[in-house]
Amino acid sequence: MALVPGVIKGLGVTFGEIVKTVTKGADTVQYPHEKEAPPPRARGVIALHEENCTACMLCSRECPDWCIYIEGHKTLAPPRRAGGKPRSVNKLDRFDIDYALCMYCGICVEVCPFEALFWSPDYEYSEPKIADLLHDKTRLGQWMETVPEFESYEAGAEVKQKKVPRP
Ligand code: SF4
Ligand code: SF4
Repeated sequence: MALVPGVIKGLGVTFGEIVKTVTKGADTVQYPHEKEAPPPRARGVIALHEENCTACMLCSRECPDWCIYIEGHKTLAPPRRAGGKPRSVNKLDRFDIDYALCMYCGICVEVCPFEALFWSPDYEYSEPKIADLLHDKTRLGQWMETVPEFESYEAGAEVKQKKVPRP
């Protein structure tokens, strides 16, 4: 018998939602015929600024889903000062993110010490084949065009690191 009050309560919620939809309109839209603009800082897709990436693997190690795949090799770069020795640097060969596994936690973007990863609010990259959700560094680099301009910190916010300007 304890079931009856629960059913009545549930029907009350349903009826309330029907009244709300009829009077104020639905909260949902008929995607893809209608599209809503996400907030600028929405976590849509991760963009890679390849020139800043040192293949340090930090993002890959911290990713809880193990869905970032990085390969690189050592190479020599010109010395910083005239007369100095050439520097040994990492060159990025592969940087893939598998969006079939990613849970959009944002840890990779937060931990990157070199400002190489950015959130873009773009969310339209569904694929008929799940394997195509693996984005390589070329595709991740193309998302940079959709990354919004950096907004100034709010007054009193703690600034932890300097922002490296994007080209
Ligand atoms: S957002 Fe989270 S799950 Fe997705 S690639 Fe980054 S660390 Fe991994
Ligand atoms: S994206 Fe950042 S954390 Fe990841 S390998 Fe490149 S420099 Fe390191």
